[in-house]
Order: sequence, then structure tokens, then C-alpha cells
Amino acid sequence: MGHHHFYSNSRMWFLTVISQPITQLKQTSFRVINSQPFTRQWMLGFLLLSLMWALLAGQSTWAAQIRLSPTKPRLGDTLSVVIKPFPAQPSQPPVVQSGQKTYPVFSVGAGLWRSFIPTTPLERPGVRRITVTTNETQIFPVQVGNRSFPVQRIWLPPAKESLAGTDAEFDQVDAFKQLVTPQKFWNRSFLAPNAGPVTTGYGVRRYYNGKFAEDYYHRGIDYGGAYGSPVIAPAPGRVRLIGRESKGFQIHGNTIGIDHGQGVASIFIHLSRINVNEGDFVQTGQVIGAVGSTGTATGPHLHWGLYVNGQSVDPYPWRTQTIE
Ligand SMILES: [Zn+2]
Repeated sequence: MGHHHFYSNSRMWFLTVISQPITQLKQTSFRVINSQPFTRQWMLGFLLLSLMWALLAGQSTWAAQIRLSPTKPRLGDTLSVVIKPFPAQPSQPPVVQSGQKTYPVFSVGAGLWRSFIPTTPLERPGVRRITVTTNETQIFPVQVGNRSFPVQRIWLPPAKESLAGTDAEFDQVDAFKQLVTPQKFWNRSFLAPNAGPVTTGYGVRRYYNGKFAEDYYHRGIDYGGAYGSPVIAPAPGRVRLIGRESKGFQIHGNTIGIDHGQGVASIFIHLSRINVNEGDFVQTGQVIGAVGSTGTATGPHLHWGLYVNGQSVDPYPWRTQTIE
């Protein structure tokens, strides 16, 4: 019953605090700051109480510790859930669920596991209940903040509305987006895949011919690089999709899909040139193709979509920070 034991209990105290909704947390700390100052007796009493509680709880509770980032997520963000099971070697990997879905979990170091939960502009902001099951089930409420996405109004001539693409095209693209492979290939922030300016950001919503498209959001970032300018791999990965306009990719045009591993994948469309083959392993910064306007593009641009567990997420946080 030494220092070591106390550490594991203080860790559980940390747990109880983060498992409260963020708003409640804020109120609590506010109240403490504004209440009467702590006297020495208060402090001793508090210490004794928490020690007693910790000893009692420590005997009967095996709780996992989780670290969630970002701390203030908004729609479009990738929620990273890092789990430290207690005891360190559970009999099975943790199970992570939110809503009706179960998310892949990967080992990311000694006694550490990580799961990604993608969020999109089609969801409602508010509390997500993340359920983590190790030796027992714990629920962690997470507040996902709102975000207003720009809106575009598009007017299409009737002929263009009927351009639907081929089944083969969508089947191949869908299968690619669902890839979840065990190895993690990236280890730092992602690069911009083209040097051109961002012309349309992630998450833009649209009205088509005056009607709001409920299921539409811009599933990526558009770069307005010049026709023929290089497209580079933003992070390492395996080329797992090559689509060509000449082989039925009417909508996407010439397409490259890179699997970065563990459910994270990039897709590049409307290319004028493809420099890689399916199965190739590409390094960060490697030229994979060139900007074009193949498929249903109104002009030369690169569309980069970043998918996490099959959902298009905002690539921006992946560009600006290292998501482990
Ligand atoms: Zn686009």
C-alpha cells in the first residue's frame, strides 16, 4: 500500500472528473474558486475523505482511463479516444461505441489503445456518449460543438442533373473508403497535397436549383492549383485505388486513393495525370499525379477528401497537428 497504489487511485479521481459533461466541470471549478478560502482543516479533511474514498473504490473498481482530443471538438473533427485499461493487460482489446456504432480500436503502445470517432456536418451538435468497455463499461459524455459551414447556391441545367456516374465507379470508391487496415503509416501532421490556394473548404453545404441538399456537404478541400501542377502524398500510405475517366470514372475523373492505415484514407479526384500504380507505397511529399479537370469538374482543381472509418472529416486539424 505505498506510493504506487495511491497513484492508481488518484488516476481514478481524474476519471470521475472528466466523465462529467464539460459545462458541469466549468461550473464546479468556478464555484470552488469563488467559495471561502480553504483553511488547513478543510484541506486535511478533503485529503482524508478522498483517501478513504480512493481506498474503498480502489478495491472494487477496475476502471480504464481515457484521454479524448480535441478537448473542444466541433462538427467535422476527428475524435481521438486513447484508452489506458486498468489493469494494464485486459483479456481483450477495449470496445468503443458511440450511438449505434462500434469503432475500430488499435494498439498504440504499451497498454494503450486508440479509436477514432469521425464527426460530420450532417450530424447534430451536442453530447455524444462514448462507451468504453474493458473489464467493465464506462460512459464518457463528450460535447460536440456546432459550426456554421458556408452555403453555396448551384443552378444546374436539367441535362447535368441526370449525370449519375457508373455503379462500378461508386462501388470501387465506396469500397476504398471503408478500408480499415491494422498498420499506421503516418507519424506527423499531413502536408497540403497541392500548392494552390484553397478554393472551397471542407463542409460547404449546397442548394441545388433552390432546393437544400440535405445529404450533401463538401467532402474535402479544393485546391485551385494550375492545370498540370503536382499533387503530392500528404502522408505515407499504400495506393489502394486507381480510377480512370476512360474506364468509367465519369464523376470523379482520374482518381487516386491512398490508405494511411487504421481507417484513415485520402482520395484525390479530377486529376489530369496519375503517376502511381495500385499497390505502390508512397512517402510524404512524393508526386503522385497532377491537377486536372477530369470527371464533373467545372475547371482545373484538386479535390482532396480525407476519410476516417468511412466518413469524410475535416482535413484541417490533420494538417495543423499530429493526430496520434
Ligand atoms: Zn471538391
